Amino acid sequence: MKVVVIGGNPAGLSAASAIRRIHADWEINVYEKDQYVSYGACGIPYYVSDEVKTLDQLITLTKEKLEEHRNIPVHLFHEVIKVDFEAKVALVKDLKHNREFSKPYDYLVIATGARAKSDPLLDIKHPRIFKVHTLNHAEQLKSFLEKNTVDSAVVIGTGYIGLEMLESYIAQGIKGEQITVIGPRLIFRSSSQKYVESELREKGVNIILQRRVTKVESISDTKIKVILDDGLIIETNLVQLSIGVVPATDMFKDTDLELLPNGAIVTNEFMQTNIPHVYAAGDCASSYHKILKKNVYIPLAPAANKQGRVAGSIISGKSDFPFPGVVGTAIYKVLDLYCASTGITEVEAKQLGYDAQVTTIESKEIAHYYPGAKKMSIQLVFDAESHLLLGAEITAPSTLGAKKIDVLATALTAGMRIDDIQKLDLSYAPPFAPVWDPILIAANVARKKCK
Ligand SMILES: Cc1cc2nc3c(=O)[nH]c(=O)nc-3n(C[C@H](O)[C@H](O)[C@H](O)COP(=O)(O)OP(=O)(O)OC[C@H]3O[C@@H](n4cnc5c(N)ncnc54)[C@H](O)[C@@H]3O)c2cc1C
Repeated sequence: MKVVVIGGNPAGLSAASAIRRIHADWEINVYEKDQYVSYGACGIPYYVSDEVKTLDQLITLTKEKLEEHRNIPVHLFHEVIKVDFEAKVALVKDLKHNREFSKPYDYLVIATGARAKSDPLLDIKHPRIFKVHTLNHAEQLKSFLEKNTVDSAVVIGTGYIGLEMLESYIAQGIKGEQITVIGPRLIFRSSSQKYVESELREKGVNIILQRRVTKVESISDTKIKVILDDGLIIETNLVQLSIGVVPATDMFKDTDLELLPNGAIVTNEFMQTNIPHVYAAGDCASSYHKILKKNVYIPLAPAANKQGRVAGSIISGKSDFPFPGVVGTAIYKVLDLYCASTGITEVEAKQLGYDAQVTTIESKEIAHYYPGAKKMSIQLVFDAESHLLLGAEITAPSTLGAKKIDVLATALTAGMRIDDIQKLDLSYAPPFAPVWDPILIAANVARKKCK
């Protein structure tokens, strides 16, 4: 059998590896348009901040290792530019030698990921406007920050990539007071935003919310003008453009491949698309949301790895490992605040017809007398009628508190009720948690609002 994989990152390589584990003799070819494969973009903020010293540290397996240890041929600088689903042929462009060739396949795995959103009015050609999506972007930005004096920065976009990067700029010598973030909201879609806001304000970062940047203009090689919809003008030394990501599926727009309105490829739980023998996985694909009960676009690494593995297993003939779907769990570090969420918001719960209620508690993250004890928050969204947990958000001073989201994600996945969460036997010792774990406190408070 011949397998073509488009994209050499978590989703594509997980698929290729799963197939290789079962079929030593199948022809597998991974085409990657870039120069890097098998890396975690998730580490980019910590590479730019210099906590991670070299780019190599972000790379799990090189092309050579993949070929030598896994027997997976990887073709760098090879872009798949078109697919003929009828003929089962991919048209590949060798970018270095500027030549094209056709590659027939029995199975195709589309793992093209996402690309950073662009806007011609903001994404003008200027040496000090950066995107943060690939290792090339990371390399350009870090090397720029190390070689140039940068006094101020404007981050356009207040999603997690925009906000995670703040600590990189501060670590590279830009003062918090000289950094401005502009966007619709601060990560959370609820009142938990207030904790992010106070963390940013404590570090001096300027926040402009619910306003739109309409234009970015060059003043000189070192200065940029950022113009907002209310006429406000900010002059700055550096702009980071992080206005979201879109699935990298442009080449499939006018084909029979079923896509969501934003371009994400629709799959079933076996990562099969609507076209026979064509699979999709990772940031280019949609995921089934178990609480919203529909396909959604939540491009994150754990799903990309799992979906790639499922696609590979199914192609290999193992049909016992479907992708279970997501409940929307995510975790981010914003300066010294650790933020996490799972499930759905109060607004979404109400739209689904639940008798949605919300409680927010604040509690010490560890025993109050243990050195370093600080406050954390937990917000629970639940149905007052059935007592079902529907969503949760956490802010905490460390990973200890933020990772409690996994308990709540597990509870959500298991369909637990607030009453069940109240009864959980959670661990306790002073350096780890208060004797009443914040999850139990939150559940106790929520229970009082249940019918
Ligand atoms: C700065 C940053 C921080 C992040 N932090 C986190 C985090 O903390 N937690 C988390 O869960 N997720 C995080 N993510 C998201 C995570 O990196 C992605 O979910 C994950 O990389 C998706 O893997 P993928 O293989 O689907 O796509 P990608 O990693 O995007 O890989 C797709 C590959 O396909 C290649 N490609 C695209 N089109 C073609 C073509 N036509 N031909 C050949 N090759 C092609 C691309 O060059 C790319 O290498 C972060 C992302 C960024 C950018």
